[in-house]
Amino acid sequence: MNVLTLLINYLKQLEGVGERQAKKWALQLLYQPPEYLEQLGSLLLQLSKEDWQCKRCFHIRQQESAYCAICNDPYRGKSKEICVVADIFTLLAIEDAQIFRGKYHVLGKLISPLKGTLPEDTTIEALLKRLDEEGIEELIFALPASNEAEMTIAYIQKRLEGKALRFSQIAVGVPFGRSLAYTDALTLAKAFQHRIVL
Ligand SMILES: [Zn+2]
Repeated sequence: MNVLTLLINYLKQLEGVGERQAKKWALQLLYQPPEYLEQLGSLLLQLSKEDWQCKRCFHIRQQESAYCAICNDPYRGKSKEICVVADIFTLLAIEDAQIFRGKYHVLGKLISPLKGTLPEDTTIEALLKRLDEEGIEELIFALPASNEAEMTIAYIQKRLEGKALRFSQIAVGVPFGRSLAYTDALTLAKAFQHRIVL
């Protein structure tokens, strides 16, 4: 397999990037001067070594801080509500919609026996630790409508059995299995408003 085909295959692994888009990018890169490609290559290498996650919620941390802008916010940092999301894309979509003023927790992955994803492959353990430390009273699950999300919520609830915590789930108006990151602001706002108590 030549380098170009390999590159196209790599780019295709990114969410939302199809064959055509991957080819377009790969061909554009082909026409860049060697210095550009070397610089890009070194940036990608740096990225792979970068410690970019917030130590608390796994969002992108602020420069010169172990925590993200939300955890560092004097008001939001004290919130007793955590919105549990699967990925940073969803967190950013909720932030753009300006519908939530609490804190987040990014799971990274959802539990999936099919894909072999176990609870320890997610950040669930770190979430459980946060609850007492931060005096959390409510967990709001903003996860996509999927079997994996259901399994993940069930697992977290089981681990917290007997604790005085409120659980709710946003009322998802998006097709089953579709990422919340691509949901528009109005739909997300409605989903938050009509959240279901679990
Ligand atoms: Zn954070």
